[in-house]
Amino acid sequence: MKIELQNINKTFGSFKALNDISLTIESGELVALLGPSGSGKTTLLRIMAGLDFPDSGSGHIMFDGVDVNTQPLSSRGVGFVFQHYALFKHMTVFDNIAFGLNVRSKEDRPSKNDIKDKVTELLHLIHLEDLANRLPHQLSGGQRQRVALARALAVEPHVLLLDEPFGALDAKVRLELRRWLRRLHDEIGITSVFVTHDQTEALDLSSRIAVINNGRLEQIGTPEEIFHKPKTEFVLNFLGEVNFFRGVVGKGKIRIGNLKLEAPEYKDQPEEAAHIFIRPHQVEIITDPKGKNQMAATITRMHAAGSFVRLELKTETDDDLYVDLTPERFEELNLANITNVYVTPKNVLVFIVGKHII
Ligand code: ADP
Ligand code: MG
Repeated sequence: MKIELQNINKTFGSFKALNDISLTIESGELVALLGPSGSGKTTLLRIMAGLDFPDSGSGHIMFDGVDVNTQPLSSRGVGFVFQHYALFKHMTVFDNIAFGLNVRSKEDRPSKNDIKDKVTELLHLIHLEDLANRLPHQLSGGQRQRVALARALAVEPHVLLLDEPFGALDAKVRLELRRWLRRLHDEIGITSVFVTHDQTEALDLSSRIAVINNGRLEQIGTPEEIFHKPKTEFVLNFLGEVNFFRGVVGKGKIRIGNLKLEAPEYKDQPEEAAHIFIRPHQVEIITDPKGKNQMAATITRMHAAGSFVRLELKTETDDDLYVDLTPERFEELNLANITNVYVTPKNVLVFIVGKHII
């Protein structure tokens, strides 16, 4: 099922929660809606579901080309999983999953045997075959969310909407479940929209990411596009840690303090103030200054508790700089007893007056 949102606006009182959002989700995609708390993700998801509606006269929602703006929840064929979408406490896992089928009117309801087959198939899919007779309180948080997902899938929706489904779980279980969800999605191929405020979850899970901020769509693209070619400073900042410098760009150069980087793409441009961003793994460190293309810096702290060695530095421009080195490079540089070093970025992202131009 292809979902198209066109110019969606949503106002609560005088507050504009969604501002002219247009995006298309292709059939079979798994798209993450990524943004900070309060950015409008849940509101957008609820509008897709038919639990809420755009401002009157604003925008269209199309499912496979058919305008569903006025169609209620029941006829859109969507399944949901929410963070706190509690299971029915007094029902077994089996009955929870079967619920959506059991409550159908007599003429639409599958036979008891068909329901049993369907639930068995879903239990297999969520790897909980042995727990069919347990009650929700006898399950772990991760198992409960898998049952919630199976319950959503039982009615064979065309679209699956997930609102921070793993938000309440601890980090390790979250990681396992999102990998599991990715594989499940590859297996069943249902068009899915996944809300999260966690950029690593979005990068890990989705075929494309829609970044939402203040009710606006900042950018939609593959994880690679969003990470390496952010269109706005917001996207760049939200997608992981980054160092920020004020500098100047133009006349074929990027300048940060005394550091000058060759930038032929700015050859014909006058110098302008710019915001310059450098990811922590994109910095080269040397202990001997060679030529002028370096910035002096002092190491203020370091720790090696991860896949990288993390250095915290103060640059000669008095900016904080975070650098991630591979353990091999760290060894090679013999940094343990050195505080004064020289840095040069391997790659920078430049924005002039809030506009991305590289
Ligand atoms: P997110 O899911 O990204 O955290 P929401 O979509 O829940 O954000 O909310 C976006 C903004 O709209 C928030 O500022 C929230 O307070 C506001 N909002 C959401 N629902 C309502 C409502 N029913 N009435 C008034 N304000 C609302
Ligand atoms: Mg929300």
